[in-house]
Amino acid sequence: MPAIVVVGAQWGDEGKGKVVDILTEFADVVVRFQGGDNAGHTVIVGDEKIVLHLIPSGVLRRDTRCVLAQGMVVRPEAVVAEIDALARRGYPIDPARLAISARAHVVLPLHLAADEAEEKRRGARGIGTTRRGIGPCYEDKSARRGVRFGDLGDPARLRELVLDATAYRRPLLEAQDVPVPDPARTCDDLRAAWERLGPHVADTGRLVAEEVRRGRHVLFEGAQGTLLDIDHGTYPFVTSSTTTAAGACAGSGVAPSAIDGVLGVCKAYTTRVGNGPFPTEADPPLAEKIRQAGAEFGATTGRPRRCGWFDAAAVRYAVRVNGITSLALTKLDVLSVLGPEIKVCTGYEVDGAVEPEIPLDRLDRARPVYETVKGVPDDLRDVRSPDDLPPAAGRYLSALEKFVGVPVALLSVGPRRAETLVFDNPFRTRKH
Ligand code: GDP
Repeated sequence: MPAIVVVGAQWGDEGKGKVVDILTEFADVVVRFQGGDNAGHTVIVGDEKIVLHLIPSGVLRRDTRCVLAQGMVVRPEAVVAEIDALARRGYPIDPARLAISARAHVVLPLHLAADEAEEKRRGARGIGTTRRGIGPCYEDKSARRGVRFGDLGDPARLRELVLDATAYRRPLLEAQDVPVPDPARTCDDLRAAWERLGPHVADTGRLVAEEVRRGRHVLFEGAQGTLLDIDHGTYPFVTSSTTTAAGACAGSGVAPSAIDGVLGVCKAYTTRVGNGPFPTEADPPLAEKIRQAGAEFGATTGRPRRCGWFDAAAVRYAVRVNGITSLALTKLDVLSVLGPEIKVCTGYEVDGAVEPEIPLDRLDRARPVYETVKGVPDDLRDVRSPDDLPPAAGRYLSALEKFVGVPVALLSVGPRRAETLVFDNPFRTRKH
């Protein structure tokens, strides 16, 4: 099982960072294939909390190679800052450890300004983006006016591209009173970033394909989650990239036939950050209880996350669109604050019938159907093996597996590495 995709099966923040961190013990290569520094992974190593936005958390394992593939949009200063922060903590990153695709698009200061201007223009109808310029950068990519990492080493070409992108954006920014970043300054800063990052820039499509061909263990690390996918999420309240498993291929250059399994990560409840539909959102007092117990505040923006019941119909949908072969269930420990009974959404009533999957196109008239199951009141943090699992936890797991239709391969009962039970490791064997 050499090539495994890990995706979020909900609205992001499912704990993918921790799951990827556990699995990278078995991975030779970790590849990010979409998004940018709008993602945020929090990884706890010993007593240290490390928040990463761009570089895969696999970098914390000293012998794992990390790749930022061509489906990503990358702010060069942000990569440099992460490399420096990791070095300060004793994780030096050389080009052999981190490769950046020459075709990955560059997030410019112009894109951050455009993100702000667009949210301002929308006013109350704002998407609630992280304002990291990700959407405008993907816009420029699709409109064929983007700047790619490979362009940074050619000053004349870079200047031309930045001037062109600025000319396009200027009226839009001025209309919203958002200052237009100075193109000359942008080019100087990008040249400085190139001095640092140039040695990391590579043909990552070839590099990753070669690793897969050699049978090395390659983990594709998704960011955000299925319901934030540009095509398969709750549009328009979505991110601007393909967060589902197919994105791993489109965004890295590895063929679908090379993928051996898809691990979907989900929490034992549901959260969503930003605006948009969230049918199983709990009432404010209960949501606050979950938020406090689960520390549900965004890793990138610090925004409080909206919290609610586990939506099995949404995860079942994620299983279908991603081809999820097994689940990693996180934050089971947080359920202890919810009392003796828990609700699980098992379907949606819409147009007089109950649908087993979240009906994304008819959400305005759909009503979640709940089943009440026994709660998990136990303190699970000391559970280290399947045999230690209290019966209530075992029952909840079995119920979720039944509702969703795929087995739980990995269970997380706390933020630390040790607070993890691996029932079925998708890589099966250790890395090379
Ligand atoms: P990601 O973007 O999907 O990686 O999610 P985040 O890193 O933003 O959020 C997950 C948060 O939950 C982090 O602060 C983790 O340390 C924490 N976490 C992960 N798994 C568990 C768990 O099983 N229990 C608890 N209590 N916290 C967890």
